[in-house]
Amino acid sequence: MPGKTKQFKTEVQHLLDLMIHSLYSNKDIFLRELIANAADAIDKARFEAVTRPELALDWKIRIVADKNAKTLTISDNGIGMTEAEVIDNIGTIAKSGTKAFMKALEERQQSGGNVPELIGQFGVGFYSAFMVAEKVILTTRKAGTDEPAVCWESDGKASYSIEKAEKDSPGTEIVIKLKEDALNYLEQWKVADIVKKYSDYIAYPIEFPVEKTNDDKTTTVEDKVLNSQKAIWLKNPDEITESEHKSFFSHLTHQISAPMKTIQFTAEGTTEFRALIYIPEKSETNIFMPELQKKGLQLYVRRVYITDDCKELVPDYLRFLKGVVDSSDLPLNVSREILQENPLIAKIQKNVVRKVLGELKKMQETEPTRYQEFFREFGRTMKEGIQTDYTNLDKLKELVMYESLNTAPGILISLKEYVAAMPSNQKEIYFITGESRSAVESSPALEFFRSKGWDVLLMTDPIDEWIMQSVTDFDGKPFKSVAKGEIELDKSEKEVTEKKLKEAAEAHQSLLEFLKKELEESISEVRFSPRLTESACCLVSDQFAMGAHMERFYKAMNKEMKPSKRILELNPDHPLISGLQALYDRDNSDSRLKDYAVLLRDQALLAEGSPIQDPLNFAKKVSDLMVLGVGK
Ligand code: ADP
Repeated sequence: MPGKTKQFKTEVQHLLDLMIHSLYSNKDIFLRELIANAADAIDKARFEAVTRPELALDWKIRIVADKNAKTLTISDNGIGMTEAEVIDNIGTIAKSGTKAFMKALEERQQSGGNVPELIGQFGVGFYSAFMVAEKVILTTRKAGTDEPAVCWESDGKASYSIEKAEKDSPGTEIVIKLKEDALNYLEQWKVADIVKKYSDYIAYPIEFPVEKTNDDKTTTVEDKVLNSQKAIWLKNPDEITESEHKSFFSHLTHQISAPMKTIQFTAEGTTEFRALIYIPEKSETNIFMPELQKKGLQLYVRRVYITDDCKELVPDYLRFLKGVVDSSDLPLNVSREILQENPLIAKIQKNVVRKVLGELKKMQETEPTRYQEFFREFGRTMKEGIQTDYTNLDKLKELVMYESLNTAPGILISLKEYVAAMPSNQKEIYFITGESRSAVESSPALEFFRSKGWDVLLMTDPIDEWIMQSVTDFDGKPFKSVAKGEIELDKSEKEVTEKKLKEAAEAHQSLLEFLKKELEESISEVRFSPRLTESACCLVSDQFAMGAHMERFYKAMNKEMKPSKRILELNPDHPLISGLQALYDRDNSDSRLKDYAVLLRDQALLAEGSPIQDPLNFAKKVSDLMVLGVGK
């Protein structure tokens, strides 16, 4: 049967080009990637063999170096591939991840960032062989089927060929014809070194035949097993070295850095399992692209790999966790789909979440600086839990942290710390939402709180306002947006303030009515407030309305929505108010009054960072006022 030659898709060519003109300083990882693929393939075959014992083999991976032919061969007796699967998996990169990978790659390169970490995160591991290969020949036969074996071959340039092949046993064999500058991968010590470093815990023996000279000068070939094969999560925590954790973590994540935190535990009781969970130092590039978010915790049942895509194992908001859960009591002889519905999985999840949140709490208390680093990286993801994990709401509220008026930029405080620092005359937990610290810090709505010395939480994640809609209190203290509703004051203060505001409202009743009528379209109410100490006015929302930041957020997402009317609050002590009142009293048909009403509203909008309707008109009116001022 003649072979077919096919062109790589453009994006594959681009990718291969990058691989070949290798930007990667660490070429060793190609072997790690191929071994990982081989082990995955055996995992799959082994899982099949649970229900079809005739497929069971003496599972192993073999690496053979041929110095004469300058080839390195990696073979496995795993699941193998059909022709269609080869075309699908190897011939094209049909996966949506590739484009995202290329983009991330380009961005990293531009910023001088670390590239090898990205390999594999997006499922392009196989192609890394072209970093060292002149040519790659893959021969594979699918286990448990009558499908013929196929051979795929490519020099990694523009095309590949594919044809039927002879192969008796199931599994995959990859022959790499090494480039001249990569011949060191033929050395036993080099291969052994890489295996030890990256693939020691792989549960199947990785054999490497070595030639041995006997006493009588004859030579024999012996298979040497390069890895210890001990599933790391089955070892006792104190038996595992830092570097073992590091290499296992890099196997799971393809990240080079060490994990930020390791959580290992054994659950006994209603469900028995072992878990080894890592918190990475950095979030993956694709953490906010859920469709690429697959690999979280891997599920094993009694050391048999089941899946790395068990959605029920961890809640979404903990999707950054990496690691392994190995259950002793889940059934093995059912399909993966049915297994995922097993109620024991929900029990495992509950356990995992409890343990992880507990460890985070500990870290927050005993290693506050590290915890802040953690939260800066994953806080946004964690906060989603407040909306979605009602059972752990109280714990999550303790774990969230924010910047505040009183912290230095970049430094976070917990709600507990906030409440502990509240003076006795402060009744509520105040927060302001907005785009950035600098944008919210200058808001006039903060003047009152500053003058009181009351701290205000600065919530600058787009998700914050959404979350605050469902959180009412912490430790019995209600949350209150500084730009919404009225401020709760102490009894004695309340009386004095209310009296003052009432008097102001009476004295300026006509002005308030005039402003309200003039601004009717955008303003629901005009009132005096204790919120301001310096500015003349500000805009607030009704207690239950959506805040300005949230509205901008929706708008940015192209969601059509009618902005809700705001409340214009005035500062009773500001000279502008008495000035306007005097102008109104002299001649309430003075045309300047209408202009000033609009200016008042627009400057309040600008002060909180919102756009104004007619900037040209605003600028013109301000210049007119300046002319008057300069003229004086
Ligand atoms: P990833 O392993 O991240 O999915 P790769 O590019 O390394 O990405 O591999 C693509 C796919 O090719 C794998 O998902 C798997 O289906 C298939 N594959 C690769 N190597 C083997 C192998 N040794 N045996 C069987 N299938 C394999």
